[in-house]
Amino acid sequence: MINENFNKLSETYLFSQVSRIIRGRSDVINLSVGDARLPLPQVIADAGAKAASELSQAKTFRGYPPESGYDFFKQAVQDYYMRKGVALQKNEIFVSDGIKSDMATFLRVFGKVSVLLPSPCYPAYVDANVLHGNEISYYTDFPPPQRADVIIICSPSNPTGKSLSIAELSKWVDYAKKTESIILYDSAYEAFVSSDAPTSIYCIDGAKDCAVEFCSLSKTAGFTGVRCGYTVVPNECGLNKVYARLKSCLTNGVSYITQAMGACALTNGYEAIVANINYYRRNAAIMLEALGDVECSGGVDSPYIWLRCGDSWKEFHKLLDVYGLGVTPGVGFGQSGSKYVRINAFCYYDEAIEAAKRLKRYVFYR
Ligand code: PLP
Repeated sequence: MINENFNKLSETYLFSQVSRIIRGRSDVINLSVGDARLPLPQVIADAGAKAASELSQAKTFRGYPPESGYDFFKQAVQDYYMRKGVALQKNEIFVSDGIKSDMATFLRVFGKVSVLLPSPCYPAYVDANVLHGNEISYYTDFPPPQRADVIIICSPSNPTGKSLSIAELSKWVDYAKKTESIILYDSAYEAFVSSDAPTSIYCIDGAKDCAVEFCSLSKTAGFTGVRCGYTVVPNECGLNKVYARLKSCLTNGVSYITQAMGACALTNGYEAIVANINYYRRNAAIMLEALGDVECSGGVDSPYIWLRCGDSWKEFHKLLDVYGLGVTPGVGFGQSGSKYVRINAFCYYDEAIEAAKRLKRYVFYR
């Protein structure tokens, strides 16, 4: 009776496994699971408190929200995209509780499809596609080894921290159009981009014909606990109406309070969230500097540093037991990560300073 694809899932989810090992180790600086560390800016918490208070008054009480989001939330997203030079229609924006669940939801638009995943990749892509019964293959670079119905692209990438340039992303868009594939573009870390890499796939001409973009305030605004994101499904890609219908089947929307906080994060709270992003960027820069000439990527457009080191579980345990650093073994992101560990900068400044000292010793003695 149970969906037989459950048996095809790996036994544990990587991040739960790593958390279990690190938990309770007070001597360890945890640079593992990519969770926000700084508290929410006051202006955003106040927007949530005001929204909650409105719900306590008869005149301003609200019941079920519109499934795809309140107009004020969509307006905030539209304005945010206008600042990137991208015009969106309100009907193309769908509020969500984050990318992990919304990408899994989106897959239900399709029947069984072939999917190309980046290798290494965020493990939730694998689980969602395995559960859906999709045929999975991987690419490490452009062009991919074979065509697929759906291509997942993550830029800046978790775990490698690399971002695609305009030229690189344009090639993917051209390729998807030629092969009649749909790109699912994960933009979770777009707010960390500090190079001239595009912060939306729609910065590429013609991308609306073939790409759906998944966005989240989790890393952008420290909303990992609040839970708010949005998915852009352009009218041109041919999936907008079917997705709107799917959402109406599966959800009663996202709370007014959450959307009020989300809209604030993209408007009058934006300066405050950029200050938090800059804080994490500074942490990444400090650790990157400590690594010197060692082969690694990321840390510039992304809070992640992808460090080449040797057997990833062995180095994970060495970093943990000898240097008191909790990182993520790269093999958890796929076989191509088996010689890497991922270090993240979602920590406090003094932790980054101490971690940098320990990393310096680690690379010196290894
Ligand atoms: N996409 C990527 C690439 C991620 O790294 C993460 C979380 O770590 C997510 C999506 C999940 O985002 P959300 O919190 O919006 O579900």
